[in-house]
Amino acid sequence: MPVMERPAGSEAVTTPILTTPGPILLLGAPGAGKGTQAKVLMMEWSIPQISTGDLLREMRKDPVKSASPLGRQIRQVMDAGQLVSNDLVQAMVLERLKLPDTRRGYVLDGFPRTLPQAVWLDQQLGRQNQALPVVAVNVQVSYTNLLRRLTGRRNCPTCGRIYNIYSNPPQNDTVCDVDGTALGQRADDSESIACERLRMHEALTAPVVAHYRDLGRFAEVDGERPVDDVTRAVMDAIVRLRS
Ligand code: AMP
Repeated sequence: MPVMERPAGSEAVTTPILTTPGPILLLGAPGAGKGTQAKVLMMEWSIPQISTGDLLREMRKDPVKSASPLGRQIRQVMDAGQLVSNDLVQAMVLERLKLPDTRRGYVLDGFPRTLPQAVWLDQQLGRQNQALPVVAVNVQVSYTNLLRRLTGRRNCPTCGRIYNIYSNPPQNDTVCDVDGTALGQRADDSESIACERLRMHEALTAPVVAHYRDLGRFAEVDGERPVDDVTRAVMDAIVRLRS
């Protein structure tokens, strides 16, 4: 997807200015809209979105990496809706955080997903002497809506635009409005796998939310509101946590 494209369903919002956004974590179940919100923050505050799900999917697209035993293992784990090992995801995040575009800040989306990942991240950031501590915003959506969002999600393999057959369908049947490409569905968005991902989230990610809540650098927003309202709430929360 072109880096500066605004996510579908989101219009320009009046943005609170934050010169140094610092490290931002977007927490929330699969389908909560973290990716959509992260893309808006990326555009508005000129910081990168680092999505571990996207990094893993990129890795899967690489013919050499995906044919390796590790690549095959990652595919199996992801397609089953399970979590990839902490070590692997952490190594990937560590590499990504070394790039210079993270200096003013970044939005981590989909990481940390387990308590050990959160503890690891705290240690890493401590070591890097980050000027600003991490702030975490949890995007809250009910189970029923999460399932509808995941199983209804379709994506354009050409331009990356995301649709939802229930709430944001393409104009023409099952092809992309922008380039007419047939839309696809992620293997892990099928109903049975989506349920498994939500179950895993409940079991493993709840302690992550508790961790950041306890640290006091945490806010929760209602992710069921229109996209722009959620954006506004997320940005306001971050600005508040940074003040
Ligand atoms: P997502 O696009 O964030 O829903 O991630 C898709 C899949 O990638 C997940 O179901 C996991 O298999 C894997 N994944 C993404 N982020 C992580 C993470 N932080 N830890 C472990 N596995 C992850």
